[in-house]
Amino acid sequence: MKLRIVYDNEAKEGLESDWGFACLLEAEKKILFDTGASAEILSRNMKRLGLKKEDIEIIALSHEHWDHIGGLDAVLHQNVAVYVPRSFTRGTKKSIGEKAAEVVEVSEPADIVPGVHTTGELRAGAGAGIKEQSLVLDTKEGEGEGVVVLTGCAHPGLENILEAAKRFGELYGVIGGFHGFDNLKSLEKLKMVMPCHCTVHKEEIRRMYPEKAVWCGAGVVIEI
Ligand SMILES: [Zn+2]
Ligand SMILES: [Zn+2]
Repeated sequence: MKLRIVYDNEAKEGLESDWGFACLLEAEKKILFDTGASAEILSRNMKRLGLKKEDIEIIALSHEHWDHIGGLDAVLHQNVAVYVPRSFTRGTKKSIGEKAAEVVEVSEPADIVPGVHTTGELRAGAGAGIKEQSLVLDTKEGEGEGVVVLTGCAHPGLENILEAAKRFGELYGVIGGFHGFDNLKSLEKLKMVMPCHCTVHKEEIRRMYPEKAVWCGAGVVIEI
């Protein structure tokens, strides 16, 4: 499966960086995970990467924060299905529904397409924290490598998310925003770590795991 970072706080030359996150997965279907903060920046980065909104068959939104759903207008179209945590406000679901083929509300762990799963809505403890879904991606078939977890901001806590992802296979790696996650030692057992977006301890992670840390920025393409 090919993954392309389309929107991130950092960017390769020729692409724009901005606070937010979006990543395109080329699985059985083309899935956009999150949309960044700005529709204009998302459109321009997509254009530079040769991507058209009509190519996107599914959009999966991690959580209802502006830096993940702000770019929606650049990618909604009449044939796209949009997977959102069930807890999204009624107003947001309604406005997405008016411009998309379908809004799929997610609460439990589920398969989106073969090889791409959702953790379901998670939140930190029993508190009133924001609910968020993360995606869980199967790595290349037959290699027995396990799964790669793709997070938006990891508000439910990266460790909780990784624990929830284990139902889909042995953990191979993690990509995305880790927010304030600081139990860096717990990443030891993973084979690949790609801290993106809001990850506070990006530099420490890169320093601690130079052999498995992958630089993240708009324009980066990786194969898993
Ligand atoms: Zn957030
Ligand atoms: Zn964020």
